[in-house]
Amino acid sequence: MRRRFEGDRLLVATHNRGKLEEMADLFRDRGVAVSGAADHGLVEPQETETTFVGNARIKAHAAALATGLPALSDDSGIEIDGLDGAPGVHTADWAETPGGRDFVKAMTRAWNELEARKATEPRRAAFCCTLVLAWPDGHDEVFEGRMPGRIVWPMRGDLGHGYDPIFQPDGHDLTFGEMDRWEKNRISHRGRAFAKLIEGCFGG
Ligand code: IMP
Repeated sequence: MRRRFEGDRLLVATHNRGKLEEMADLFRDRGVAVSGAADHGLVEPQETETTFVGNARIKAHAAALATGLPALSDDSGIEIDGLDGAPGVHTADWAETPGGRDFVKAMTRAWNELEARKATEPRRAAFCCTLVLAWPDGHDEVFEGRMPGRIVWPMRGDLGHGYDPIFQPDGHDLTFGEMDRWEKNRISHRGRAFAKLIEGCFGG
């Protein structure tokens, strides 16, 4: 039995604006007021685990403990078959620069590494998302979503965030970077995990 979410305020334990906006859209019309980690002055905890679920748990429990609110975290990334699943849990790390995150750099690295390995086309990949809803008493519920597709080059589209411009989901001609948020949320790894969360904890 999943524990149900009974309140009307939910903290989304992320400093990532793109993720927060997608979550706010997903919760719209559900009577839940969504705030982000920055609204509560939370610092980003170190993601020291080697799995999406491990890191999602760190973020959700830290935020729930610090605020006394139920907290929802998202740990996500892209797994590229031709790179043996990399960058995976290191997806954000590939974008790090001394001046902040640079996703053009990260996407270029992904493409260059595929080229260096002479990876065959289509260059298969999947976006993965793990959501953890944690309560201040330490209980949590975990949900996972995955969207398979392929890596394209050059980058296409200036919508979305992160690696969206090089990912073309299966069954679609557009990259995530060419889809508006609603269209992306309908099919994405995050949208899929979110549908399970709604069914499991919000009464469908
Ligand atoms: P996290 O914040 O440690 O979970 O890092 C996840 C990283 O994966 C983000 O910084 C993005 O680069 C990437 N990512 C996750 N979801 C998406 C998405 O929907 N589109 C594009 N990039 C994503």
